[in-house]
Amino acid sequence: MNEAVVAADVRKQYGETVALDGVDLSVADGEVFGLIGPNGAGKTTLVRALTGTTAVDGEVSVHGETPTGIDADRIGLLPQSFAPPARLTARELVDYYGGLYDSARDTDDILATVGLENDADSWYETLSGGQQRRVCVGIALVNNPDVLFLDEPTTGIDPAGRRSLWSVLEGLAEGGTTIFLTSHSMAEVERLADRVGLLQDGRLVAVGSPAELIDSHGGGSRLVIETDDSSAAADALAAEGFEATAEPTTVVIAGVSPVDIGDAVAALSAADVGYESLTWTEPSLEDVYLQLTGETFEGAATPGGSVVAEQTAGDASATQAGTVSQDSAGSQDSTAPQDGTAQEGAR
Ligand code: ADP
Repeated sequence: MNEAVVAADVRKQYGETVALDGVDLSVADGEVFGLIGPNGAGKTTLVRALTGTTAVDGEVSVHGETPTGIDADRIGLLPQSFAPPARLTARELVDYYGGLYDSARDTDDILATVGLENDADSWYETLSGGQQRRVCVGIALVNNPDVLFLDEPTTGIDPAGRRSLWSVLEGLAEGGTTIFLTSHSMAEVERLADRVGLLQDGRLVAVGSPAELIDSHGGGSRLVIETDDSSAAADALAAEGFEATAEPTTVVIAGVSPVDIGDAVAALSAADVGYESLTWTEPSLEDVYLQLTGETFEGAATPGGSVVAEQTAGDASATQAGTVSQDSAGSQDSTAPQDGTAQEGAR
């Protein structure tokens, strides 16, 4: 493998604060590497170390050279907070920053790459958040870098702007640019990154493809049942062989596949236990993050989940695509749709 970025035993301390505590990492040429981790984990410090904007102990190299020794044209950096002059147009900004390099990429070419051809002559301050960030990515591309470092490129951008920036980054990756990205958006990293590293307290605690990390640390798929009668529900489910854990207002069944949903519903029905909703979830990178950092998100019981059935006054109402239908207690016909959603037929 051709290594674009290498860090070996990288350490950085600010007074008493250990920001990086022996980071070893390598990113292959053409790879998209996503760095995740809680605030204060050391992500920005690592980006700064890899781009030569802060001195660290240990070894850091980009295409075999030190970040400060390598030709500046080969590295592009979009820092976390970068605010170019607001009363310049997108075109003027790309032109201006291009002028700082001996040989810069063609401005129109860059504007097309980041999808700003039609807004090229608008002032930066009049562009949407997503368009502004695309201008910033364009500025980071003026020197035609081999490796692009993006520190939280989509923070603060609305979902539409975020997705349009993802398309831009996917286009760059397809063109062979190595991308090193930090993000708090697990969806972003899961979509864009070939490999992901989780940094915690200055240490890389897990590295792998999203699928590998989810496999190792995501836990299995699970069914979350919202009910006021969680202990009775858990007993009824356990009697049918489900691994059910009762929480105050929910019961969680671990390692359950969509085809088992009907059995779970039948068990509740047979025991005459009511429920408000059933939500089946597959593990995601968010679960990996929660598992490894020990953090919790609000509503973490159902991250990325799909409500598969809601029940009111003893009557279940189907809500989403896919089917898990039940003819009568104990006899059900289930199919698992591709998108991970399923629904229970009225009973
Ligand atoms: P992240 O980007 O993951 O939020 P940072 O790299 O910004 O983390 O920070 C890692 C740790 O180093 C934090 O405890 C932060 O307060 C500290 N730190 C970062 N930069 C400085 C600095 N210039 N001076 C002092 N402490 C710093």
